[in-house]
Amino acid sequence: MNSDYSKVIGDVLRSLKIDATGLEIFNEVVGKRITTRLKISVNGREYFFRKSGMVRTDERFGAEVNRLVKKNLYQLLTTNLGLDDVPYGILHGVRPTKIIQRWLREGYGVTSQGVIDRDKICRRIIKDFLTERDKAELLTEVALHQLPIIKRGAKKIGVYVGIPFCKTRCLYCSFPSNVLPVEKVIAEFMEVLKRDIAAAASAINRYGLTVQTIYIGGGTPSALPEKYFAEMLATVHENFYSASVEEFTVECGRPDTLTPEKISALKNFDVTRVSVNPQSMHQKTLDLIGRQHTVEDVVRAFKDLRAASDWQINMDLIVGLPGERLADFKLTLEKILELAPDDVTIHSLAIKRGSKLQMRLADELNTLEDFNLPSDLEVRKMADYAAKVLRGENFYPYYLYRQGYMSGQIENVGWCKRGAEGIYNVQIMGEQQTIIGVGAAASTKIPDGNRIQTAFNAKDLKTYMQDLERYTARREEILAQVYGGRN
Ligand code: SF4
Repeated sequence: MNSDYSKVIGDVLRSLKIDATGLEIFNEVVGKRITTRLKISVNGREYFFRKSGMVRTDERFGAEVNRLVKKNLYQLLTTNLGLDDVPYGILHGVRPTKIIQRWLREGYGVTSQGVIDRDKICRRIIKDFLTERDKAELLTEVALHQLPIIKRGAKKIGVYVGIPFCKTRCLYCSFPSNVLPVEKVIAEFMEVLKRDIAAAASAINRYGLTVQTIYIGGGTPSALPEKYFAEMLATVHENFYSASVEEFTVECGRPDTLTPEKISALKNFDVTRVSVNPQSMHQKTLDLIGRQHTVEDVVRAFKDLRAASDWQINMDLIVGLPGERLADFKLTLEKILELAPDDVTIHSLAIKRGSKLQMRLADELNTLEDFNLPSDLEVRKMADYAAKVLRGENFYPYYLYRQGYMSGQIENVGWCKRGAEGIYNVQIMGEQQTIIGVGAAASTKIPDGNRIQTAFNAKDLKTYMQDLERYTARREEILAQVYGGRN
């Protein structure tokens, strides 16, 4: 295998779930023509295949070479080895809708009268990336819905606050979340967080930035004990909240963390959007994935929140959970829709590095069969079913992202009622707006011309608390580069 393309070749082999053993892959670039040769040994016999393609001239040459290498290889493998196509073909990035938004900014798919030609965009996605037609249509629909929200106002920003604690760790979790520590550590974290917040607020004022959205995520922010939860909200509110804030979201993913006192605090500090995440409405699944809450907790938390305020409520569900099949998911969705949330995000289970699930599979004592995971086909049926039912209930898809190792090789989609779009969700996926991150594992991203300047707080709690000044200095550095004196 020629190593220059090992990353893109790896992407294709992983998505088609094949092992590179016995394969030799060579790529050759001559002018605008990219030729891929594949040599494969099966039972001592060698087979040779070859495919060529021409790069597009309206894209960056390097990116086009990589795309053609992938496309050639994908077609060689699916055609000659009889492998099944995958829904997204060779489209592998986390934020596929960004491609469409860039095309539109460059004028592709827009008629001289300013009308967007959806079909032309879909056709190009299918041709360039070999996606299924319904995926191309979904991507286009989401990208177009996001257009009015993703406007590049350089001084309008989002703020993300990372609270890295949960009551327990879910089987599939790959986030840098910690089981809630003793009070002394929580108090120390709060002191560090306050310094981090103060430094970010000072920069926001210095550069005349306007906060559009605040998003408190994690972890499960509502896992904090009541006193600290209220203190954290008060600090965030005091430093970042103003009349310009259009959306203030707090993740309260585990319903058993919500108490009447915490709901009052959410209300007192002007929160507009809350997430409660059932994942499944089957107790046996919740027990298996280590959520340690009940189905009744979900219903109670939702009803308490609804009764307390007119904020928007999001609920996350997962397709592909261990032991679940289409009939189980149908029941979960039915129970969730009875509650009438404003926004439902359908995730596909991803078995990622760092999760207990992945570690238990890697220790070779457990196999996929032990976890009774649904097949890719079954997972796709669940997601298709969700799409059909949600559309029927007047939800529409408004944000979408993909991850590695997703069951069914599909996508995560946020569905909402009209007007209930999570603005932060759209902005974080669009990467057209500055997001300032504070707290553990938070990232700061600042669009700067055609690139994005980044600064990352440590994922490890201890390192974050010990070395805060290093992280705030890096954040300051990129803020100064983009906003200092240039605007
Ligand atoms: S609630 Fe979320 S962040 Fe916490 S352990 Fe579960 S998946 Fe991880």
